[in-house]
Amino acid sequence: MNKPNPLAELLGASSPMVPPLFQSSVYALPDLDALDGVLTDGQSGFIYARDAHPNARLLAQEITRIQAGAWSVICGSGMAAISALALTCVEKGGRIVASHRLYGRTVQLFGQQLAKLGVACDFVDCHDLAAVEKSLRQGAQMLFVETISNPLLRVVRLRALLEISARYQCKVAVDNTFASPALLKPLALGADLVMESLTKIMGGHSDVTLGSVSGSDLETLPKMNAVVSIWGFASNPFDCWLAQRGLETLTLRLNAACDNAMSLAQWLKRQPGVRAVHYPGLPEHPDHDVAKNLFGERFGHMLCFELEGGRAAVNGFMRRAPGIPFSPSLGHTSTTLSHPWTTSHRYVSAEEKIEQGITEGLVRLSVGCEGLAQIRAEFERGLSLSPP
Ligand code: PLP
Repeated sequence: MNKPNPLAELLGASSPMVPPLFQSSVYALPDLDALDGVLTDGQSGFIYARDAHPNARLLAQEITRIQAGAWSVICGSGMAAISALALTCVEKGGRIVASHRLYGRTVQLFGQQLAKLGVACDFVDCHDLAAVEKSLRQGAQMLFVETISNPLLRVVRLRALLEISARYQCKVAVDNTFASPALLKPLALGADLVMESLTKIMGGHSDVTLGSVSGSDLETLPKMNAVVSIWGFASNPFDCWLAQRGLETLTLRLNAACDNAMSLAQWLKRQPGVRAVHYPGLPEHPDHDVAKNLFGERFGHMLCFELEGGRAAVNGFMRRAPGIPFSPSLGHTSTTLSHPWTTSHRYVSAEEKIEQGITEGLVRLSVGCEGLAQIRAEFERGLSLSPP
């Protein structure tokens, strides 16, 4: 006789307002028929958390809804999600065309790790549509771009890239981490796959390490699930539980952070010692019109500024403004800063960094949703505009 389900007995007719945390790495089944039911007949249930678990499933459902897709897979980090995506879409002897403006670890994944598996990657300037087309003409399984690039916030002409890729039957995968689906839903525009580092603004509280891949084509889902389980890219339940809670306030947090970022960008460009401000919301940003066309009224929570005086000036700013912690990530509730030269792009050659415009004086800000006056006061200290 089957043991009654203790959870059902405990809860009776009530149901919890928030999803429970299922911190179990394995599930018990009544018999072999039940196992076959889950594994081959599509019945609901779970067996082993590396393959699937309820908190990842619930989070995936929510992200699928937000992305306007057909499915999502949750991985243990953003990099695990990019790895799963590449290993699903590209085979030995295959070829990726990737933007040359990508997060440094993604560059290493495509340029070094996948090269070991016989996958070639051509890094091209994706703002040069002719260069993209020239590379796609040589054959490629995947075009990979970041919606808003890390760190200089260049915004890709996604609609044009989708059109060109369709001509060459090449899948388009988008790392949407800097935008988040609250700003742009690439699947709705026709992208094949969208990836997010949930570690950032989607989780939103700097307490999880997770990534997601979402898509519209249901044929890709079982292939991706197999890659995640076999390569061991799975997520853990507590992180999924926290990320799901974070998602509840994504739009509120992002809208407030975008508004702060816009005001701060306008203020910063008038301050002495600030050589340049990079923000897609500023009319002088090279992709301002592209950003307006893709995002509408808001332009993201990420902002970069360049200090005169290079590394020494950045160190001085950090020491005078500890209220804006130097914390090499992004998407926290409050404002943090990072230094691309020594963190996200540490392993990119100095020549390539300079070529892209990443200097030692460049500071990358993840603007938060605290009061603007609080951020401004800390900036005045950092820029030595007010007494310490
Ligand atoms: N994509 C972008 C644009 C990132 O900035 C990062 C990390 O900073 C990643 C992907 C990787 O995400 P994770 O750190 O969750 O592996």
